[in-house]
Amino acid sequence: MNRGNAVKSGKALTSASPEAQSRVAYFEERRDQIVATIRELVEIESPSDSKPAVDRLSETVARKFAALGGQVRRHRASEFGNHLQVDFAGKSGGRPVLLLGHYDTVYPLGTIASMPCRVVDNKLTGPGVLDMKSGIALMLHALAALQDWQGKDWHGKDRELPRPVSVLLVSDEEVGSDSSRAITESLAKKAAAVLVLEPSYGFEGAVKTARKGVGEYTVKVTGKASHAGLDFQKGVNAILELARQIEKVSGFTDLKKGLTVNVGIVSGGSRTNVVPAEATAHVDVRIARRKDAGRIDKKMRSLRPFNRQCKLEITGGINRPPMERTSGVAALYTKAVAIARDLGWKLGEAAVGGGSDGNFTAGLGIPTLDGLGGVGDGAHAPHEHILIPDLPRRAALLAGLIELV
Ligand SMILES: [Zn+2]
Repeated sequence: MNRGNAVKSGKALTSASPEAQSRVAYFEERRDQIVATIRELVEIESPSDSKPAVDRLSETVARKFAALGGQVRRHRASEFGNHLQVDFAGKSGGRPVLLLGHYDTVYPLGTIASMPCRVVDNKLTGPGVLDMKSGIALMLHALAALQDWQGKDWHGKDRELPRPVSVLLVSDEEVGSDSSRAITESLAKKAAAVLVLEPSYGFEGAVKTARKGVGEYTVKVTGKASHAGLDFQKGVNAILELARQIEKVSGFTDLKKGLTVNVGIVSGGSRTNVVPAEATAHVDVRIARRKDAGRIDKKMRSLRPFNRQCKLEITGGINRPPMERTSGVAALYTKAVAIARDLGWKLGEAAVGGGSDGNFTAGLGIPTLDGLGGVGDGAHAPHEHILIPDLPRRAALLAGLIELV
């Protein structure tokens, strides 16, 4: 997911250290390879609801991580694609850093025909290119570089990473992460920090230090059908009741607290000449503060019918807790800013309304930094693209963070 609403960011600086410059140069030289990796991943379409398609991509990605020497483990999922865990040993021992992401997209199979993966004006287009196949490619290339920079061992093989790294790529993030959440949480608990390769925010590539929590509710009203002409008074209009409930729940919005309630889908009724017996609303709830979760949930569940002849049924709940800007998150951001400064640019931060699996890891109190992936625009939209010139410094930032956190 990728929807933003606030950003603090800055302009590029030009004071890169020589070592940092050589790192960016390393990735500049490999820019076409990074683009080729992203293209390969984008061209294997992977909508969340197609297990065979997602598994195909999963196997391609698994081969690439295995080629770097990672221990591949597949977490089988029956309804969704398999989730992929890859573990790398490190020279230093200690707790791994977790690189987190997803390989499912929101686009149905065949979208690539109308949204091809193409280079146009230094942009790379295609379904999922920003959210978040470029993020997966950045993981691969940053890890390869870190191995490269350790030099070769006696057998001419790449040396191991400076520290242990775990990678988790899930297949169901775009549809709520129900089947992967427990895996994400268990790996996060073992990690020193979590780096989420979801898209960055805005064209300056800000990272995400806060995300809203997300809830979904269904409000279903049952009334009583009757002929609108012959038996009007015998009917109980479910749509009328739902309309009043919609007013009520919309009133729960509290912008100062970052709490929003959006009735996004309504349905009901059958014909104009029938008093409708059923009406349903689907509601999206966002919270910025963890402490609001229980409160809004209770309010939703306490809804009672205005018209006592109607039956009201409330289902759903808060799915993702908010990612709050805790001191752990802020400390990670400070490290990222220092690395970026050394690379010659000022890294901004953003608080956004959309959730990701980073919400789960941050919710457990594990230091989490999100939005470390590609820079671009149009996630989930026909104009989705990334800016190719940003790839080298994003890869250098990720490599630096893996070493430092
Ligand atoms: Zn995403």
